[in-house]
Amino acid sequence: MRFISATQLFSGKDFLNSDSVIVLNTDNSIEDIISSIDIDPTKIEHFEGIICPGFINTHCHLELSHLKNTIPYHTGIIDFGLEIIKNRNTIPEELQLDYMQQADTDMYQAGIVAVGDISNTKLSIQPKKKSSIFYHTFVELIGLNPERAASVFDAGRQTLTQFIIKDLACSLAPHAPYSASPLLIELISQMCLQTGNPTSIHNQESKAENDFFNSKTGDYLRLYETLKLSLDFFNPTNKSSLESVLPFFQTDLKTLLVHNTFSSQQDIDIANKLHPNLYWCLCPNANLYIENTLPNIEQLVKSNCIVTLGTDSLASNTGLSILDEINIIIKHKPSIPLKILLKAATYNGAQFLGIEDTFGSFEKHKTPGLNLLQKKSTRYTITKIV
Ligand SMILES: [Zn+2]
Repeated sequence: MRFISATQLFSGKDFLNSDSVIVLNTDNSIEDIISSIDIDPTKIEHFEGIICPGFINTHCHLELSHLKNTIPYHTGIIDFGLEIIKNRNTIPEELQLDYMQQADTDMYQAGIVAVGDISNTKLSIQPKKKSSIFYHTFVELIGLNPERAASVFDAGRQTLTQFIIKDLACSLAPHAPYSASPLLIELISQMCLQTGNPTSIHNQESKAENDFFNSKTGDYLRLYETLKLSLDFFNPTNKSSLESVLPFFQTDLKTLLVHNTFSSQQDIDIANKLHPNLYWCLCPNANLYIENTLPNIEQLVKSNCIVTLGTDSLASNTGLSILDEINIIIKHKPSIPLKILLKAATYNGAQFLGIEDTFGSFEKHKTPGLNLLQKKSTRYTITKIV
């Protein structure tokens, strides 16, 4: 048994009293949290810094790990997407697996204990099975043409089955408002609700996404032209992308909105009114990489949105570290309280993935992992304790 104290202990939900001590069993589960007066001080291991639970990365694409340093900065989302399509299968699968394996190891060492991972194929099953990290895979479906909804859904279910038979947590997820028809979203969200799983969608990553829905104008027309896909069936809604697609998600379904870079206050207000189970995932390093901008995080926090953090993929990030995401938010948005960011990085992510009985907070019988954060000039560094 270990007795661990620190300058500050963050439980996953809040900072604990400064005399709190975590009692850790040999299997790294939390036996109890006690006051230091109840224990012989020579038994206490004290750490300088903040100790918090292991991090939850709610948005990653392990499959794109081989695309590190491939795509230039600040291309904007359309050209970024086209580069992904062009580059994703240029190396053999065995090599892609090596990169995934390395990315998984890096995440583990960066104090990440659970990941919500977007997958388009079954390729990531192998590294996920071997990993010490808990993965929930979102099998991502793409199909804006409603006529294709049934066949895309069936293909998605087949991929999903591959994860299920390997005993990996998984569910279906539509890629983005501009790439999933209302019918496809309805099929996915009904299935997720039936199986008691969350879903996820990229949301408002660019201004062009809103233009596309509002008036069927903007850069997405170029994307579909380049891909030689007809948009005859698509009618503008005179609304933002989020407002247009949110009604097709079941309101009881835990739904992760990823990026939210161009979500307005009106979007946030309408979304929160329409859907009581939304989680808002921030991937600030990817936003700076692709669009060179950040979401209005202050607005999301003020509107009581449940915020989580994600790294996105190595195609749009230099590393897969939740602490790097925290550091970049602190740098650009110093008014956001650290407590909000730490809760986003731990408890909120665990709650979204439905793994809060094990991860995300220091409570009896949980095995959340322990990260030590230490401030070195303006950045926090991390040491994984367990
Ligand atoms: Zn993504």
